[in-house]
Amino acid sequence: ALIAHDDKKDALIEFIISNLTFFVSDKLELISTATTGSKIQELGLNITCLNSGPMGGDVQIASRVVEGKCDVVLFFRDPLKSHPHDTDIASLLRACDVYNIPIATNPASADFLIRSINAEISASAY
Ligand code: PGA
Repeated sequence: ALIAHDDKKDALIEFIISNLTFFVSDKLELISTATTGSKIQELGLNITCLNSGPMGGDVQIASRVVEGKCDVVLFFRDPLKSHPHDTDIASLLRACDVYNIPIATNPASADFLIRSINAEISASAY
């Protein structure tokens, strides 16, 4: 799942562009909150857009985590603003912690996560 707060959307798009080979893989099924997802679609990527974050999109992603339908979350959060859906964001973070789902909340941690997934994919190819 890919999500970014408004002031972090450019950073997420930049991150995706820098890791395009990873994100275009047909091994991935991408989901996103609506506004983030529409920007990702502009890159030509195939991604399912759920509701916008403030309209329950983060809760929908939390629900997929709970149902075992989401393996990794990249959520570029804006720590300098409060959001009307702060409780929804907390629910998503909590769901990831309860179900031990990796969640990266900034580009540096997302970079580590992607590298780790790539290493696993390469190892399983042998
Ligand atoms: P958005 O939602 O992609 O619809 O902007 C992100 C969020 O605020 O959680």
